[in-house]
Amino acid sequence: MDCVAGLRCRECARTYPAEALHVCDFCFGPLEVTYDYERIASVVTRERISAGPRTIWRYADLLPVADEAPVSLGAGFTPLVRADHLAAELGLRDLWIKDDTANPTGSFKDRVVSVALTKARQLGFKVAACASTGNLANSVAAHAARAGMDSVVLIPSNLETAKITMTSVYGGRVIAVNGSYDDVNRLCAELTSEQPSWAFVNVNVRTYYAEGSKTLAFEVAEQLGWQTPDHVVVPIGSGSQLTKVAKGFQELYEVGLLDEEPSVRISGAQAAGCAPVATAFAEGTDAIRPVKPDTIAKSLAIGNPADGWYALDTIRKSSGACAAVTDAEVIEGIRLLARTEGIFAETAGGVTIATLAKLVAEGVISPDERVVAMVTGHGLKTVEALATSVGPTATIDPTLEAFEAALASDDLLARSA
Ligand SMILES: *Cc1c(COP(=O)(O)O)cnc(C)c1O
Ligand SMILES: [Zn+2]
Repeated sequence: MDCVAGLRCRECARTYPAEALHVCDFCFGPLEVTYDYERIASVVTRERISAGPRTIWRYADLLPVADEAPVSLGAGFTPLVRADHLAAELGLRDLWIKDDTANPTGSFKDRVVSVALTKARQLGFKVAACASTGNLANSVAAHAARAGMDSVVLIPSNLETAKITMTSVYGGRVIAVNGSYDDVNRLCAELTSEQPSWAFVNVNVRTYYAEGSKTLAFEVAEQLGWQTPDHVVVPIGSGSQLTKVAKGFQELYEVGLLDEEPSVRISGAQAAGCAPVATAFAEGTDAIRPVKPDTIAKSLAIGNPADGWYALDTIRKSSGACAAVTDAEVIEGIRLLARTEGIFAETAGGVTIATLAKLVAEGVISPDERVVAMVTGHGLKTVEALATSVGPTATIDPTLEAFEAALASDDLLARSA
């Protein structure tokens, strides 16, 4: 049932109809989708949700386009994996990985894009467009193909090869721009007024797009048996995902799906080479100073994050923390997760795991907490990052002697022999 009440300015609370609007005419504040929670509460139940599809659309009552046939490749309902080996290594007792590498195009962006394009199609748009650090590009191109829409995707020209190929294969237009993501995003904002008939998923339909991230919280709660964790660690690019994870937990309570009001500490993870939110958190200020990104975690390389301040506010209000990790720690985080739990994450996942490790070491996350780490993208997207740190144990001639020589010279192989 469509229970959208409208849009509301996050700054001055003026209200707007649920159209392709994203900023307030009066104060230029960002708009947010609002719902009639009483009406949702009167229809939604745990049983109704568990009888739904094994995708984000099982929570359609809590999404901004409930009555449309969704544009879907099957995003969502990804595994929540209990991570005992990693927990033991970090000194935790109750750790879970939300494995969003399992999404159709390999990242959490499939959640937001499925919602954005469903709304865009309902509003009559025929072209899907975006500015992207890579994963959004993959997902917009794929979902546009699925929806029978044209796509125009703008990316920084220095992206990882896999992300460029994974976008181009779907047959849309892919424009590589010589500049940073922030340059691409600025160009995209200018294009939005030139091309009012295009749905820019992260500009004029961003309000709807952002709602898709709530499904991470919905799934975590449902997969924990309608309980919320004590602490979640969320990577920050624009900061949107982090704020919507908080909104998602709260909404479940508003509509009667949780027995108790949730109290989830939300911590943010950034790469040191692009850490405007973590820096503001460390300095105890409200001002997010834009930075020029320099990190292997390209999917998080947004130097001037649109929702940075809101993410910071969410972190502080939830008694969470925000930390940044070096590129070397990111690689170590990727390898640690792969080695302990068999999950291969992209650099953003390495940022999350390394930040988790850091917050545990600093005593910010306590061993008594039930912790969920959001691992948001697949490692095959960023194999370049590991080129110099992993490879075959040995390269040998095809003879038994050569194999035995390799075995003798390697501790790990010898131990498992
Ligand atoms: C985009 C992205 C994020 C960050 O999401 P924001 O809503 O921009 O903060 C995290 N992880 C991956 C893999 C992403 O592609
Ligand atoms: Zn306003």
